[in-house]
Amino acid sequence: ATPTALLVGTGRGAQMGILIKGPEVLESTRRIDTIVLDKTGTVTAGKMTLTDVHTAAGTDRSELLRLAGALEDASEHPIAQAIAKAATQELGALSTPEGFTNIEGKGVQGVVDGHAVIVGRASLLADWSLHLSAELTEAKVAAEQQGKTAIAVGWDGRARGVLVVADTVRPTSAAAVAQFKRLGLTPVLLTGDNQAVAERIAAEVGITAVIAEVLPQDKVDVVLKLQQEGKSVAMVGDGVNDAAALAQADLGLAMGSGTDAAIEASDLTLVRADLRSAADAIRLSRKTLATIK
Ligand code: ADP
Ligand code: MG
Repeated sequence: ATPTALLVGTGRGAQMGILIKGPEVLESTRRIDTIVLDKTGTVTAGKMTLTDVHTAAGTDRSELLRLAGALEDASEHPIAQAIAKAATQELGALSTPEGFTNIEGKGVQGVVDGHAVIVGRASLLADWSLHLSAELTEAKVAAEQQGKTAIAVGWDGRARGVLVVADTVRPTSAAAVAQFKRLGLTPVLLTGDNQAVAERIAAEVGITAVIAEVLPQDKVDVVLKLQQEGKSVAMVGDGVNDAAALAQADLGLAMGSGTDAAIEASDLTLVRADLRSAADAIRLSRKTLATIK
């Protein structure tokens, strides 16, 4: 391969908002047949908003929001920020939790105003023997069927409510998925979120392969497993969560809106928060290589 043509390719990429780490990166796009897409922040905008509050019998809505909001205010997670923001808007300043702990891919816990509070997946609360009532379970299932994420809240030994947060699919994601398919790539949706939510989002953008409920540290294993099955894998992600998987992928693409860790671990950075740039990158790269042969 002549370096000149590859350099022209990387220059053209920069004009298109695609930052390529080195000319040799282009070579790895030749065999890519599978494209793994992180859900939150990649296929979706990752900007969550609180849409519903469901309380257990005897639980006060304001207290639920106050305790959950105070705890989540200490977390950077997009779900946490949505909950903290809604709580602040409704109730004003929030307490500072003590002993705040983030349980990666599951939720948060800590002490707020003397209460031991847990916020996160229902399974995290179940680990502490806090179980959702039939009514709360029903609210959770209904939210998930709409593609929303249900966050369980409990304190002092009881499950107290479900907070529903919703993300929005980026308007260009479905068009991008169609382009991946035309490029001969099989799109796979990868997420730590629950199976029902993942399937709903996947259907909305035209993806049939869904790998859900994957813990952050296990995302890299999903990529590795696909590679062991003989696939050549591109991965698009945005989060700190995604860094190891992006590094493991044959081609790692970071959304420019994402975290530094993701950008650092990737071969390519997409300046625009638009999944169609990933298709542009692969198309450009293949075209550049074709001029070389
Ligand atoms: P994704 O892979 O979609 O970026 P994560 O791996 O970060 O998602 O989180 C997976 C799931 O864990 C979330 O859908 C949520 O149910 C739960 N979770 C993680 N962090 C928090 C938090 N700070 N507050 C509430 N729930 C959380
Ligand atoms: Mg993410």
